[in-house]
Amino acid sequence: MQGCPVHTPIPECMLLYRQGKLDQAGELLLRNNPLSAVTSQVCDWKQFCYGHCVLNVKKVPVRWYEIEQEISEEYLFKHHLERRSRELEGKRVALVGAGPVGIAAAFWLYEAGADVTLLDANPRIGGVLRYGIPAFRLDKKYVDAYEKMFADAGIVFKGGVEIGKDLSISELASRYDAVLVGAGAEKPATLHIPGEEKAVQALSFLKDPDAYELGKKAIVIGGGNVAMDACRTAQRLGAETWVYYRKTFENMPANPVEVEEARADGVRFEVFEAPVEVKDSGVVFRKCENVVPEDGGRVVTRIIDGTDHFVECDTLLTAISEKPDFDLFQGTSAVMNEWGWPVTSESGQVEGLGNVWVAGDFILGPKTVVEAVASARTAVSSILATFAVGFQPVDTE
Ligand SMILES: Cc1cc2nc3c(=O)[nH]c(=O)nc-3n(C[C@H](O)[C@H](O)[C@H](O)COP(=O)(O)OP(=O)(O)OC[C@H]3O[C@@H](n4cnc5c(N)ncnc54)[C@H](O)[C@@H]3O)c2cc1C
Repeated sequence: MQGCPVHTPIPECMLLYRQGKLDQAGELLLRNNPLSAVTSQVCDWKQFCYGHCVLNVKKVPVRWYEIEQEISEEYLFKHHLERRSRELEGKRVALVGAGPVGIAAAFWLYEAGADVTLLDANPRIGGVLRYGIPAFRLDKKYVDAYEKMFADAGIVFKGGVEIGKDLSISELASRYDAVLVGAGAEKPATLHIPGEEKAVQALSFLKDPDAYELGKKAIVIGGGNVAMDACRTAQRLGAETWVYYRKTFENMPANPVEVEEARADGVRFEVFEAPVEVKDSGVVFRKCENVVPEDGGRVVTRIIDGTDHFVECDTLLTAISEKPDFDLFQGTSAVMNEWGWPVTSESGQVEGLGNVWVAGDFILGPKTVVEAVASARTAVSSILATFAVGFQPVDTE
């Protein structure tokens, strides 16, 4: 429970599971973490729960996430949202972004009794779960389940609405009692090299892979999870795919399991390679090396001059890193810090915009689904506190 950002009530669920009360266990999991059917599949469990629960004296780690998946994936399709209180009748909350933050917040706020409207630039609910993580890792039936659950409950979803362009944050803030922005981190970082415009952003590719003609050979630049999803997708679409990364394997921010699975899919890797120019038929790379400073300080990776070499490819995909796009706060009274990020309270309430909160990747930077849910919970709890209502997702008695 302590290792998990949403403090999943593992002992209670284990007990219910042993007693064969799967629906009760499922309800407990869903109320605590509306995305439990998803996080049990996509969480980097080694980072969070694995190893915290061990079995008896042999200390064998309990694979809790497998039990959680069994319980929650069955229960998700049975759950009907219900108002648990009438205290919030007439309170209206707008949720910008229908990714994990929007989904979790819509679930909790609806059940707490508020009127919820979800808005998203994409046509359908899901955020990265629908438009980023490939279907071979996460079946879209889970995101469809939330779509159906929300439609059945009468939660309004407005797709194809870009806040900051079609409608301003200030307008939303004046129409609703509270606004929670979970707009993710979708702004790709750039390489700052000549010819870069010839490359395809991995996030755009993952949104609709079939729309791209990859040709025979694809190169993916990057070493994070987005790069791993992009290379595996390209390989599965029939392109011979290579990942080029400027540091070592150990430095790759991707989950090592993802790297192993990419290899198993047939993706090949080249490390210590930095791109310096993109040409029509390929990329010029320069070799890199690790240098240990004489004073024994931190190892630095440096580019080796005179090592340029050209590598042919039909498609270049870049997955360097992503960050939030705060343009939607332009022209508002939101207080921004010296790095251009909104100043918020610990619960994510934006300074200068009384009834606007932020959560998930939009304020944390690119993180994980479970961390987005945890941050949505903090924001929802604060929103409900301003409505003078306490928040307790699960009964702990
Ligand atoms: C390819 C990829 C693979 C990943 N794999 C994993 C994984 O295996 N495990 C894991 O735990 N995490 C993974 N992550 C990270 C995880 O998906 C994110 O941390 C999580 O989705 C963040 O949730 P969110 O709700 O904050 O944002 P998002 O899921 O990004 O949702 C944000 C939503 O806001 C909408 N939006 C943005 N701007 C506007 C606007 N101006 N107006 C209206 N709508 C807007 C977007 O269209 C989007 O639907 C992955 C991320 C990527 C990109």
